Amino acid sequence: MKRNLQGARAIVTGASSGIGRETALELARHGVGLVLLARREERLRELGDQIMPLGVKVEAVGGDVTDPAVRQRAIDAARGKLGGLDILVNNAGIGATGLFVDADPQRVRRLMEVNFFALVEMTRLSLPLLRQGNRPIVVNVSSILGHRGVPYSSEYSASKFAVQGFSESIRAEFTKLGIDVLVVSPGTTETEFFDRVIERTDDPKWPEHRPVTAAVVARQVVCAIRSGKHEIIPYLWGRVLCRMNRLAPGLVDRLMARYV
Ligand code: NDP
Repeated sequence: MKRNLQGARAIVTGASSGIGRETALELARHGVGLVLLARREERLRELGDQIMPLGVKVEAVGGDVTDPAVRQRAIDAARGKLGGLDILVNNAGIGATGLFVDADPQRVRRLMEVNFFALVEMTRLSLPLLRQGNRPIVVNVSSILGHRGVPYSSEYSASKFAVQGFSESIRAEFTKLGIDVLVVSPGTTETEFFDRVIERTDDPKWPEHRPVTAAVVARQVVCAIRSGKHEIIPYLWGRVLCRMNRLAPGLVDRLMARYV
C-alpha cells in the first residue's frame, strides 16, 4: 500500500537523539505533524524549533515511555494538537553489554520494560486513534539482534526478538483493521546508543565494521512507510548476517562462540 505522507500525523518515541530524532525530521520534511516523546525534554524543544519552519505542527512530551501517564499524554497530544494519529513510531530503546553470567538481574527487567513492554502498551493505547487514521501504520524499531542472538547482548537480543514476534503476530491481526506494521531492524548505527548503555560489564571484540548514520536509517524508514514495506534491515552486514543465519545457523553459532 503506497502512502502520501503530506498532512499525516505521527508519534515518535525516543525522538531526542539518533534514529528517532532523524526519523522525526525526515517525516516533517514530508509534511507529517509530530508528537515527540523522550525524557530529555529540552532536546525535544530544540528539535521542535528546527521542525516548525517546515510548516508542520509539532508537540513535545517529556517523560519516560515506561510510565503509563506519559504514554497517555502522547496520545492526548496527538488527539488534541494533531487531530488524530496515522503513524506510530515505537523507537525508544536502550542497550546493555556484557556476558549473561555477569549481568545484574535488573538489567533484563529494565531492557524489557523500555524495549518491549512500553512498545506493546504504546501500540495498545494508540489503536483507537489509529483505527480512525488515514492508512495507519505502526513502525517498530527492532534490531538485527532481533533476528540473530549474539554474545554480550543476550538480554537486549531477547527484548528485540520479543518485538519481532509481537510485530509479526499483530501484523496478521491488524490486517482486518487496515493497520500496517513495519519492523525496522538496524545494524550498527552512529548514535548515542553505545555511550548510554544501562550496564557495561564487558565489550565484545567484533571485527572492524563501519556504522551507518542515523540519517541514512531514517531515510530508509520513511521510504519504507511510503512504499508499504513490512520489514527492512537498513545495514548491509546485517542483511548478510541474517541470510547466513537462515542458511547455516550452526556455522553462525560456531563463529559467535569464537568471540567469547
Ligand atoms: P539513542 O540512544 O541515540 O536514542 C534512543 C532514544 O530512546 C533517545 O531519544 C532516548 O531519549 C529514548 N529513550 C530511551 N529510554 C527511554 C525511556 N525510558 N523513555 C523515553 N525515551 C527513552 O539510540 P538509537 O537512536 O541508536 O536507538 C533507537 C532505536 O534503535 C532503539 O530501539 C535501539 O534499540 C535501536 N537500534 C539501534 C542500533 C544502533 O547501532 N544504534 C542498532 C540496532 C537497533 P531520552 O534518553 O531523552 O529519554
